[in-house]
Amino acid sequence: MTFRDEFSYETRPVRVVFRPGAAVTATPGEAARLGLRRLLVVSGSRGEQMARAVADALGDSCAGLHAEARMHVPVEDVDRAVAAVRAAGADGCVAVGGGSAIGLGKAIALRTGLPLIAVPSTYSGSEMTPVWGLTEHGTKRTGRDPVVQPRSVVYDPRLTLSLPVPLTVTSGINALAHAVEALYAPDVSPLVSVMAEEGVRAMAEALPRLAGDPADLDARSRALYAAWLCGACLGATTMGLHHKLCHVLGGTYGLPHAETHTVVLPHALAHNAPAAPQALTVLRRALGTYDVPRALWDLDLAGRLGTPRSLAELGLKEADLTPAAARAAGEPYANPREVTEEGVRGVLLAAFEGGPPDSGSRTEGDRKPS
Ligand code: NAD
Repeated sequence: MTFRDEFSYETRPVRVVFRPGAAVTATPGEAARLGLRRLLVVSGSRGEQMARAVADALGDSCAGLHAEARMHVPVEDVDRAVAAVRAAGADGCVAVGGGSAIGLGKAIALRTGLPLIAVPSTYSGSEMTPVWGLTEHGTKRTGRDPVVQPRSVVYDPRLTLSLPVPLTVTSGINALAHAVEALYAPDVSPLVSVMAEEGVRAMAEALPRLAGDPADLDARSRALYAAWLCGACLGATTMGLHHKLCHVLGGTYGLPHAETHTVVLPHALAHNAPAAPQALTVLRRALGTYDVPRALWDLDLAGRLGTPRSLAELGLKEADLTPAAARAAGEPYANPREVTEEGVRGVLLAAFEGGPPDSGSRTEGDRKPS
């Protein structure tokens, strides 16, 4: 068994549409299904062209385009976006872009209660969760509220064709992190376990193909399918040490989101692995290898894909390690292995240095999982 004998699982009313071209061909129909007639389209400035195509497809149902989403959802941005929603008399929003654009859409939903349609263009998975984030006075707060969960998610693999290889890989590993931590979450359940295994398998298969040919639409579809599954795992479970560390590193030290996940994940998993044997069994099966932390570390082909390897490269200072560890160990949260300041500092130091993860299981060599 890969799950506990007792579990609870909640299904939220989210409709998912998945097909190449869907951003333009399916979004108007999704709006109509929800009875929405005046939608504000939100995006980041770099995603404006994509968002404009969606706005044009909505025709008379588009109440405007607000291309001002930025990283970490600053509260001033939310004020401006909510003013734009009110000025336009919008009855809903469509967020087109990565986690930052979807984050702004969620913040609007949190303030106004208006329904949100998400059209994701990265693998971050935010579209499948009821989790919101807001940054005020330099501090990022997060919370859960069903009102921010997008009512409809339009997955269009064509939107992801423009993702550069480094962002493809880091965003893909960001998705894998959700599945990894879901597998040892206190609220893992049989369906989550199945989604996580399939998500990890599909993403690990797609990323090397995309590194070779980022325009491979079939591999793009596979990666986005994996992102959906991994995002659903994130939405259904409580994350542990790895996500907590990334939250601290992003929120307090300003480190970039997907890149930080990529650097930290192999080390966080190597640390937790001895306390999460069932999760490791699933991950070994999905990746077809015994040493899972090493396989995750190797996914960027030994750094040859232009992705960062160490927290030092991302700008963290050695002097930050101890306070960051204290912060990440400071509040209680679920994790398979007891969270101690010393243990967290060890994970941080390994990620800071960026060498291969000390998974211990390497003594088993390349033994294939049974
Ligand atoms: P992002 O949305 O900030 O995008 C990163 C960069 O990629 C941006 O410059 C963006 O313009 C660009 N980009 C996006 N799609 C592109 C495409 N198809 N082609 C080319 N460039 C593209 O980054 P992200 O990693 O998607 O999201 C990170 C944010 O999402 C963080 O703030 C994180 O906290 C949040 N997040 C929230 C949840 C949740 O459940 N609430 C889950 C995951 C991530």
